[in-house]
Amino acid sequence: MKIEDLIKIAIEAQNNAYVPYSHFKVGVAVLSKNGKIYSGCNIENHGIMSICAERVAFSKALSEGEKDFKAMVVVGAEELTTPCGYCRQFISEFVEKDFKIYIVYGEKFNKIKEYTIEELLPCSFKLKH
Ligand code: ZN
Repeated sequence: MKIEDLIKIAIEAQNNAYVPYSHFKVGVAVLSKNGKIYSGCNIENHGIMSICAERVAFSKALSEGEKDFKAMVVVGAEELTTPCGYCRQFISEFVEKDFKIYIVYGEKFNKIKEYTIEELLPCSFKLKH
């Protein structure tokens, strides 16, 4: 699976975003270690019930039994659009340190930055098991 393929799927998902309030569309493609891809877009709702593209994609994967994640691509705006705090915490509970987060941005999505969850959420909240 090439990163370009994930970007294409994330952009397709972005087109499905339901954003009547912010008009800010985000698309995500999550790649599992066995090569399956789960896409997501943000879905807004009046009040506090909106859900981000990242949590939509992960929820789809998790609800289908996926447990091992390799990477994700996020496409948002021309400016760098990193996951929000809710999503960083959410994602941190399901990925390992080698999980790659690619943020695609720029004019025509021609720029890319790579992060780990540790970089985006250092000292994340974890319950001891
Ligand atoms: Zn979020």
